[in-house]
Amino acid sequence: MREIVVASANSGKLREIKESFKGMDIQVLSLKDFPTLPPVEEDGRTFRANALKKARAVAQQTGRLTIADDSGLEVDYLQGKPGVHSARFAGEEASDADNNRKLLGLLKGIPPSQRGAAFRCVIAIADPTGKESWVEGECKGVIGEHARGTQGFGYDPLFIIPELGKTLAELPLEEKNRISHRGKALAALKEVLRDLLGLS
Ligand code: IMP
Repeated sequence: MREIVVASANSGKLREIKESFKGMDIQVLSLKDFPTLPPVEEDGRTFRANALKKARAVAQQTGRLTIADDSGLEVDYLQGKPGVHSARFAGEEASDADNNRKLLGLLKGIPPSQRGAAFRCVIAIADPTGKESWVEGECKGVIGEHARGTQGFGYDPLFIIPELGKTLAELPLEEKNRISHRGKALAALKEVLRDLLGLS
């Protein structure tokens, strides 16, 4: 069994990453297993910069192969906001509900044709010797006018997949992973890991 640290304590992300690695010979550790590590400041201007910074720092600090997901929502009408600030859109200590409320407020009265958006995810992988790379994924959708569904996390209850007529929060985990930004990045990551770790 190979150990990989996921440089995150976000339960929603961890659940999706663990589900995706199911059946592989990988034990997933997270920042919850290293509670004394100092937080990494996410001050990059891109998802890739932040993901690489987190993966690099945690690989050095733990001495283990590390992956880090940096992701967020880009809303067309808001010129790509909240982007890298998705987690703290409504303030430093904002909850998912606070962020969703702020987004709905900013889009109040805006018709569906102008509510297009995309989730983006970059997953960086780094080892303690300084080797690193990254993969990415995108998922396009439309911001709904009210929250729907109870699965997932973050902006999922507002994010409608037009082809399904459902929000990401209305999809079971496996189905979200098949179509989501993170699911696509994880599929690419698994190929990188298979080569890197010699897994079948
Ligand atoms: P990060 O920890 O800086 O990468 O913040 C990611 C933030 O983007 C999360 O806190 C959510 O607000 C949002 N986000 C990223 N991926 C998802 C997703 O799959 N569903 C819903 N919201 C997401």
